[in-house]
Amino acid sequence: MRLLLTTSQGIEDLARAELESLLSGLGVPFRVEEKPLGVEGRVLAEIGEAFYTDEKGRKRELSVSTYLNERSRLLHRVIVEIASGRFEGIGEEEPERALKRIEEFVSGLPVERYVKVSESFAVRSFRKGEHRITSIDVSKTVGKAIFERLERFGTPRVNLDHPAVIFRAELIGEVFFLGVDTTGDSSLHKRPWRVYDHPAHLKASIANALIELAKPDGSPFIDPFCGSGTIPIELALRGYAGRIIGLEKYRKHLRGAEMNALSAGVLERIEFILGDATRLSEYVDSVDFAVSNLPYGLKIGRKSAIPRLYMDFFSELAKVLEKRGVFITTEKRAIEKAITENGFEIKHHRLIGHGGLMVHAYVIE
Ligand code: SAM
Repeated sequence: MRLLLTTSQGIEDLARAELESLLSGLGVPFRVEEKPLGVEGRVLAEIGEAFYTDEKGRKRELSVSTYLNERSRLLHRVIVEIASGRFEGIGEEEPERALKRIEEFVSGLPVERYVKVSESFAVRSFRKGEHRITSIDVSKTVGKAIFERLERFGTPRVNLDHPAVIFRAELIGEVFFLGVDTTGDSSLHKRPWRVYDHPAHLKASIANALIELAKPDGSPFIDPFCGSGTIPIELALRGYAGRIIGLEKYRKHLRGAEMNALSAGVLERIEFILGDATRLSEYVDSVDFAVSNLPYGLKIGRKSAIPRLYMDFFSELAKVLEKRGVFITTEKRAIEKAITENGFEIKHHRLIGHGGLMVHAYVIE
């Protein structure tokens, strides 16, 4: 079986490491490839069959996709790949020609192996890059090709609202993927615990990527701009044994973070503090790890205030941080100045796709 896994751009290596660790735990043979066909935000896994022994001692096949949907912290979707291919020149082609190519490709695929004719289906599509066709065109074309193929076996049923099987078609640049989306309509990064929706909340997958980069070792950890609590909550859900602190300046967001933590079942594990990160040393004497997505000024506050805010925050951080910090922001110049002028060293930098932007992530010591 081939699984196409989706995640945020820029964290494919971390998603791959998580996947390898989860699959190793199953004891199945597997091979993992980052960015298959050069596509960012995607990881491909070729996996052998997995089995478990049920309570009556019988050997049963284990659904690896269900296992990954339940366990992964960094993936967005788990898609059973039906086929993929490179469609050279599709970006410039006339819509009719481009859609004809997709239709012919899908018509030749054994989609009947993935849906019973008695089951309803729908096609959801994702398109990225320069094309003269829309994602709606792709959905309609793929849906028609699947329908016509299934008609050979009976009367197919389409249900766009509540389908039993969701086919996912992706056209990213020149690459086309078709698969069955085992995750469903809600991406895994949309956590069920989120009852308070902060206007600039971090995707839970990226929160976990930042935690991976920080490599916290069980000693005290803080998110000094915790907003709705995504980072501390995800850390607590990983079973982190050490002290976890979330600091936030605005009462409304802090209340929201507490509500989210309560809904996640980890409120007792996190110390939420109402306070100003530019006065960090007034609330904590020492922390080993600090991980945060800083206010960018795009969605929150005045952009002109950002350099001062970062400078004041990193000068406070220098008084309390013992080991490592991981921060993301769009404000490259302001953060690099604040990091270096306060005696920290940038150990690692990468770009991560978040909310349609490429955001700068830094590991500092
Ligand atoms: N990671 C959070 C989440 O997932 O909800 C979102 C963080 S948001 C980008 C930045 C947060 O920093 C906002 O909630 C904002 O209210 C808070 N903030 C702004 N200035 C602050 C300050 N001086 N001290 C502490 N928090 C501050």
